[in-house]
Amino acid sequence: MISKTASPPKVGMISLGCAKNLVDAEIMLGSVMKSGMQITANADEADVLVVNTCAFIDSAKEESIDAILEAHQQRGLNKRPGQKLIVSGCMSQRFSRELREALPEVDAFIGLDQVGEMGAIVQRVLSVENDRGYSFVTDRPTYIPNYDTPRFRLTPAHSAYLKIAEGCNHPCSFCVIPQMRGRHRSRQPGSVLAEIRGLVAEGVKEINLISQDTTYYGMDLWAEKAGPRQPVDSARGPTLAALLREIQKIEGDFWVRLLYTHPAHWSDELIETIAGCDKVARYVDMPLQHIEEGMLGRMRRETSRAHIENLIGRLRRGIPGVAIRTTFIVGFPGESEEAFASLLQFIEATRFERLGVFKYSQEEGSRAAKMAEQIPNRIKSERYRRAMTVQQRIAREIAAKNIGNELRLLVDEPLIARTQADAPDVDARVILSEAAPVGEFIMRRITGSRGYDLTA
Ligand code: SF4
Repeated sequence: MISKTASPPKVGMISLGCAKNLVDAEIMLGSVMKSGMQITANADEADVLVVNTCAFIDSAKEESIDAILEAHQQRGLNKRPGQKLIVSGCMSQRFSRELREALPEVDAFIGLDQVGEMGAIVQRVLSVENDRGYSFVTDRPTYIPNYDTPRFRLTPAHSAYLKIAEGCNHPCSFCVIPQMRGRHRSRQPGSVLAEIRGLVAEGVKEINLISQDTTYYGMDLWAEKAGPRQPVDSARGPTLAALLREIQKIEGDFWVRLLYTHPAHWSDELIETIAGCDKVARYVDMPLQHIEEGMLGRMRRETSRAHIENLIGRLRRGIPGVAIRTTFIVGFPGESEEAFASLLQFIEATRFERLGVFKYSQEEGSRAAKMAEQIPNRIKSERYRRAMTVQQRIAREIAAKNIGNELRLLVDEPLIARTQADAPDVDARVILSEAAPVGEFIMRRITGSRGYDLTA
């Protein structure tokens, strides 16, 4: 523990990547605070600076390296040679051995299983001289937080991410996340519910449920419950539908939003449950990645065109007014002009409320990286533009359809709010003509649209 006399060390955090990585950063800061240290938003005054990295695709890795080098440079420029630099997150988990050689300026590397021990790690790094590049990283992470895991939230007070599971069991051929984050492991429902009660009691109005595959929630626990040599579903354990029904019983006025669902694990029970639970936002985030059968097979998405089309029909019929967000990858190895054209037709016909497009990134260590028929960047960019052009037109038409409607909004800033169809950080906004109280729900009539955004 830090001595009472010296002022406690200050720890700064630069967190990159996805919401799951952000929750890890919040847990690291929670552990630091529990150890009696302080947190600072000003990197220049930090005794220890943590760069929480992402390694999902090449551009994310570059951004992470740049952030580490920038942090090192700054400590030189700011005459803070004593400032310690710790690297965490997916890139540290995956490449700590290589990074130790490539980045001798880093004082320590931690992995995904060490986020809850950050307080002790910082104390050790501060107390030991000339031990640069020490790695605390362990292979095959298994860590999962609990409801009482100390956490310093980095999101606005009224909105929170809640990790209900970690890791992934899917074999998607373009993805290296399972190699970094390990096998799927769900939190116990009681732990998730206790954390939600705590957040609601703190005044949180929006809880975004996240994991790598949110619809697989609980299924890994069935095997444990069934025991050896018993058919797994003989003792159906926790499910996302059951969890949502319990969340619905929690007192309070708040939204729960589902992020990162996988088409393979949706059920009619889940659709009916969402329809029957008014606390669950009419919003479904379901990355599809492609629609053409051959591409879905090469991507090893464990689903089919027929299943996806049938599912979207059931979602739209079962949850009136639902907004569907998805993402597609263009330029995957072997993607012919015909396969891409069928994806464009699908986007045109399905009219997703929210859609993102990624250019395929040849990820070292993924199956797809070794595939023949890699697509030139010029064609990837051209397909990216064509897909986004179609979606921009559709998004504008969908936005304009809201004009005149009275919608329930969550206020993020005095003149900025979001509808149920807008997840934080990735979707559209509502620009308010009159200021409203931040963190509150309001009802406003939509007066117009500006591109993806609405006005009220
Ligand atoms: S579902 Fe597929 S794309 Fe998503 S994290 Fe798992 S392996 Fe990666």
